Amino acid sequence: MALRNILTSENETLKKVCRPVTSFDDRLATLLDDMKETLAAANGVGLAAPQVGILRRAVIVDLGDRMIELVNPKILETSGEQDGMEGCLSVPDHYGLVKRPNYVKLEAQDRHGDWFEYEGEELIARCFCHELEHLDGHLFTEKAYHMLTDEEMDQLMQNQEKDAE
Ligand SMILES: [Zn+2]
Repeated sequence: MALRNILTSENETLKKVCRPVTSFDDRLATLLDDMKETLAAANGVGLAAPQVGILRRAVIVDLGDRMIELVNPKILETSGEQDGMEGCLSVPDHYGLVKRPNYVKLEAQDRHGDWFEYEGEELIARCFCHELEHLDGHLFTEKAYHMLTDEEMDQLMQNQEKDAE
């Protein structure tokens, strides 16, 4: 396994539509393993293949107790709404407020090509939407209705410290 370099938002690769994965081979397994290692090292919640420069439809999401691999994922169903803060490993140090569905059900293939369904709420649902948009060349900054200013970030940090006391 190896750490891969995470591209940042000025890179044109992040604006391209990714192609479906068609070969469920060792190369895909290596990519997914590398993405897991890269995501863990970056302390993120999700990572899409284009973020490491690979224009294929593959995503890793950290569920907390384990990581899930989503190859060729498609959203089947959404419901509800959540409104909250979002960030991206490709947009370091910037956060924005984005409205997302509170529940998302999707289908995807695993590294062997077998289809499965998975559903998530709250942070997981938010992450599914965010990562799948990467596969179509979109960043959360396009969806954010407000990007936090430096002052708002400072304020937020202070409030978090207060909450922790
Ligand atoms: Zn992202």
